[in-house]
Amino acid sequence: MGNNVNAKAALLKMHEIDSLYDKVRRRILLLNRAVESSSELETLREEVESVDHELQGTRTEQQDLELESRSLTEKIRESESNLMSGELNNPRELEALQASIDSMKEHRTDLENRSVERLVMVDSLQVTLEKKQASLVEVEEEWTNRKSTLETEIDQRKKEYLYLKRAREQVAEILSEENLEMYEHLRRRKNGVAVAVLEDENCGACHTQVAVGILNNIRYSDDLLSCPSCGRILLTDL
Ligand SMILES: [Zn+2]
Repeated sequence: MGNNVNAKAALLKMHEIDSLYDKVRRRILLLNRAVESSSELETLREEVESVDHELQGTRTEQQDLELESRSLTEKIRESESNLMSGELNNPRELEALQASIDSMKEHRTDLENRSVERLVMVDSLQVTLEKKQASLVEVEEEWTNRKSTLETEIDQRKKEYLYLKRAREQVAEILSEENLEMYEHLRRRKNGVAVAVLEDENCGACHTQVAVGILNNIRYSDDLLSCPSCGRILLTDL
């Protein structure tokens, strides 16, 4: 008789420990996932990288256009001095040379226009890059703080977890092997909850109303009884 009073108290204690134990475990899992990465930070890093890449590419294009334009200027100069040298007398050849000079100049203008466009783009990309880098620094700092908060909580939760684990072991020692087995069996089968505490006349887990006869048995006898509806061990809050 007296053993079952102890058993009831121990089962209730076990139930309370396990509810916390499960909560702490879920919380640790969640925290571990959260501490792994920040999607905001990753997105921003990718953006900085992509703008930087675009900036380098545009710069290279601008420099190439500049080089091309310079070498064209050199060719134009050569052709013009050739034109002025008086060595060519054939009007057709002179005309062709002049046409070639005109075409090269036209091409050079086009190169210069494109080069200027790139220069403007470089300036604008530079501004964008600096802005993004500044927010990256800010977000990185926020993340460092957030991470350290998360890590602090993980440490605390792990301590709680160990504490509950030990408390659970102690309660398990009080229970008879039979009752412990029944409890663990129900816990596996009933979604992690083996015990239901009575709420007035209802099972605290499935909320079915419990017959008066059973209620009286639970309240006034030392017998361990199950909820007729969900099968969990029904206990009163001692
Ligand atoms: Zn029930």
